[in-house]
Amino acid sequence: MLRVLTIVFGLMVGFSSFFAAAADRQAIWDLQSERVELSRFVDYWPEPELPAGIEVLTNLDSQRWTPNQSDSLSLGYGKSAYWFRVAVENPTDEVTKPLLEIAYPVLDQIEIFINPESSGAEPIESIVLGDKQPFDARPIQHRNFVVPLTLAAGEQTWIYLRVETTSSMQVPLILWEQNNFLAAEQARSIFEGLYYGIILVMVLYNLFVFMAVKEQSFLHYVGYITAMPLFLASLHGVAFQYLWPQATWWNDQAITVFLNLALVFGGTFSLRFINVSPSNHPFLHRWTVGVVVAAAVLAVAGLMVPYKYLILPTILLAFITCSTMLVLSIVRWVQQDPAARYYTFAWVFMLFGGMVLALSKFTVLPRNLLTENATQVGSALGVILLSIALADRLEREKKRVFETQQRLIREERKARMAQEKSLQVQREANTQLEERVQQRTKDLEHLNEQLLELSATDALTRLKNRGHFDRIFQSAVVRAYRYDEMLSLLVLDIDHFKKFNDTYGHLVGDDCLKMVSQCIQKFITRPQDLAARYGGEEFVVLLPETPMSGALQVAERIRMEIEKTAFPVSGDVVHLTVSIGVCSVSPAKADATKDIFKWADEALYEAKGQGRNRVVSWNMDNQPVGSSVSPA
Ligand code: GH3
Ligand code: MG
Ligand code: MG
Repeated sequence: MLRVLTIVFGLMVGFSSFFAAAADRQAIWDLQSERVELSRFVDYWPEPELPAGIEVLTNLDSQRWTPNQSDSLSLGYGKSAYWFRVAVENPTDEVTKPLLEIAYPVLDQIEIFINPESSGAEPIESIVLGDKQPFDARPIQHRNFVVPLTLAAGEQTWIYLRVETTSSMQVPLILWEQNNFLAAEQARSIFEGLYYGIILVMVLYNLFVFMAVKEQSFLHYVGYITAMPLFLASLHGVAFQYLWPQATWWNDQAITVFLNLALVFGGTFSLRFINVSPSNHPFLHRWTVGVVVAAAVLAVAGLMVPYKYLILPTILLAFITCSTMLVLSIVRWVQQDPAARYYTFAWVFMLFGGMVLALSKFTVLPRNLLTENATQVGSALGVILLSIALADRLEREKKRVFETQQRLIREERKARMAQEKSLQVQREANTQLEERVQQRTKDLEHLNEQLLELSATDALTRLKNRGHFDRIFQSAVVRAYRYDEMLSLLVLDIDHFKKFNDTYGHLVGDDCLKMVSQCIQKFITRPQDLAARYGGEEFVVLLPETPMSGALQVAERIRMEIEKTAFPVSGDVVHLTVSIGVCSVSPAKADATKDIFKWADEALYEAKGQGRNRVVSWNMDNQPVGSSVSPA
């Protein structure tokens, strides 16, 4: 796979070197020259263990110099110091002042000697460049190393360079006519500005989206698209120029740190974004996590361990990570993950750039405009595509959440209706229960009344009983006392009832008692009047607000009624008589019941004594008075 890619890219960008190889080994710079790539005119010599001085170099045997056959000057990682030399011929009769650009900004130390042979006895002057010097020490403030040259008329100028670096030994040498340099620089600036502008907008946009929706993927994505351009900015010298112009140590380290951070966030973002989890892809997930952890370790190491020990493992890991991501994306695409399609395209773009960069660093691909800028173009396109993919995913997520919400609302509505129904049933049950309780209470009250009535009633005669009479009598006396009213009490006793019972039996006697009760009841017409069976064959009649005359009238009517009522018994007709004692007083005290009863009883006794079947009233002189007498 790698070989095929190498061949393809090699064909794409390298075919012009076939023609270059045949050219003369001396660069010509005349008045028409605008831009000349010096790579194919350069000879190089790897410096041995001990550093060699310029004096050694100028006397070096021509056989020891290796002519660079390629259109680019890339010697990869290996020896840390090389010498280069190139001759530039100015065939004109005017002095020309081109600019020499060394278009690889991470070289550590560059020493440039112009025409060292011709200096004679004078000490040989050199210009020292490299990213181990503070940025503002450069003769021209540019992210690449740019040196103004003076080419004498009709002469050949020798340029010697000693380059020492821990990074890839790439020394692209370009001669520029000054105006052309400015024009090209403008194009490059706008290109870079465009790239970093796009990235900045994307970082801010995705950061805001993260803050709005709190979806973790966006944060990982922001991490990725922050680390990635910082890596490129470090590699291209932009970061050194604008972000840390004094930090010469950090400038190299930043490349490994940011590249590894890009790998970390690229990995974590991918796992989330295309849903690679331990449950659906146990091996791939473990592998990717392993790669991410390795990148994190290298990123941390980048803060302490020198660049030269880290750059090779980092590039290797970058290659592994990129391949892993591509495999992940294709696997997920095949498995119909909706996010995976965008993701794959984005990775293809970014991988294209990344691979081209990696291959050019290992000198598999020549170094030129395409290989240098492929990373940025690929990365910008990838970043935009991934951002679209994220938005798409968010949209789908929103839709899913919305649908879930709708379903939940429906279910909640259903549950609420069911609850309302059950509440309704409960309410109805409560109402029924309440009605039943009310009904029961009413029934109980009714029963209570009946019980009360029963407890106040004499079972045989259905008149009120003695207990009831006592209560009513008591309150009637209190009332009469308070209002100073007359109150009358009648005490009745059936005459010779013992004899009657003995003659006809107790059952007949009971019937007789009922008959007497009915006769009494007939004359109890006023609501406050009360007739009661006092005990045995004795009855009482209470007549509130009734004077003696009225009481005597009532008593007499009762006596007459009983007397005339025929009581049929075993073929005979029997007539019973009663004696009645009457007491009518206006009570002198509230608790006069005993006295009044006693006086009525005395009157009754008097009636019995006078021969029975009569009404006797008790008068004020403590003498019961007979009111009516009829023959027995
Ligand atoms: P007197 O004219 O003096 O009143 O004569 P008496 O026989 O009626 O005498 P007394 O009042 O002492 O008699 C009460 C009798 O009444 C005793 C009992 O035979 C009868 N008697 C009392 N209570 C009842 C009852 O509930 N039913 C029946 N059948 N007889 C009763
Ligand atoms: Mg009696
Ligand atoms: Mg009697």
